[in-house]
Amino acid sequence: MLKGKNAVITGASRGIGRKIAEKYASCGANVAILDIVISDAALEAKKYIEETYNVKCEVYQCDVSSTQCAKETAAKITSDFDGIDILVNNAGITRDNLIATMEEDEFDKVIDTNLKGAFNMIKALSRNFIKRKYGKIINISSISALKGLAGQANYASSKAGIIALTKVVAREFGAKNISCNAIAPGFIMTDMTKDLNSDEEFLKSIPLKRLGKTEDVANLAAFLASEYSDYITGEVIRVDGGLAI
Ligand code: NAP
Repeated sequence: MLKGKNAVITGASRGIGRKIAEKYASCGANVAILDIVISDAALEAKKYIEETYNVKCEVYQCDVSSTQCAKETAAKITSDFDGIDILVNNAGITRDNLIATMEEDEFDKVIDTNLKGAFNMIKALSRNFIKRKYGKIINISSISALKGLAGQANYASSKAGIIALTKVVAREFGAKNISCNAIAPGFIMTDMTKDLNSDEEFLKSIPLKRLGKTEDVANLAAFLASEYSDYITGEVIRVDGGLAI
């Protein structure tokens, strides 16, 4: 489905990003894993992906919130892979707090990583996509953006910004055969949500009665990176078991 395509996935050494990297590799894509540090987890992901799927996999240190770092890393990856076809802006953090007690730094850090980070990577790779007259950009938002969850003024704002950014990119780059879509996950089992799986009352509030798996998000990310989604752009798709209905 993605044979011979080259994909960049930010924040991909663990969680949802890691599963997307594995899914893309299983579909035949070469993958560049970006993370804020080159951790053991990132190196283990590279080894596993190369050995299991027989595709090229490289790891890059990149703090996506830094414009300079995004620019330099994008240039290096584009050269190493001889062009990039797919970008997944997955890197994200939370710093939950009520507005009354939220520190300026907690707000800024989340916006800088989740929203500015995606903008930085799209801008840094835009020339590459335009030159290739091809591109699939997938931004990871959240249902927090749609529901405005309490304690997440910073996170929900950043993820709502991602939805607006997705629509702007879809309009600005559509004529160059570059599409841009967003995924809005609900509660997915990762380090970010590790306490929720034992909360039975919470699970009852989800129509499908379970937390999401990282595969649930990766499957949609594969569809949006593939030719099966060629006429879809500027769209936001929830993967939330019906939570935000
Ligand atoms: P995670 O397990 O916490 O992983 C996040 C990844 O992003 C980590 O690899 C982390 O690196 C990396 N990262 C953090 N800051 C970065 C930066 N400045 N530059 C580059 N990489 C950075 O998160 P997750 O649960 O898989 O979530 C992935 C995405 O899905 C996020 O955008 C999140 O907001 C979104 N999402 C998640 C859920 C959920 O329920 N899990 C729901 C809705 C949306 P380190 O390992 O070094 O920290």
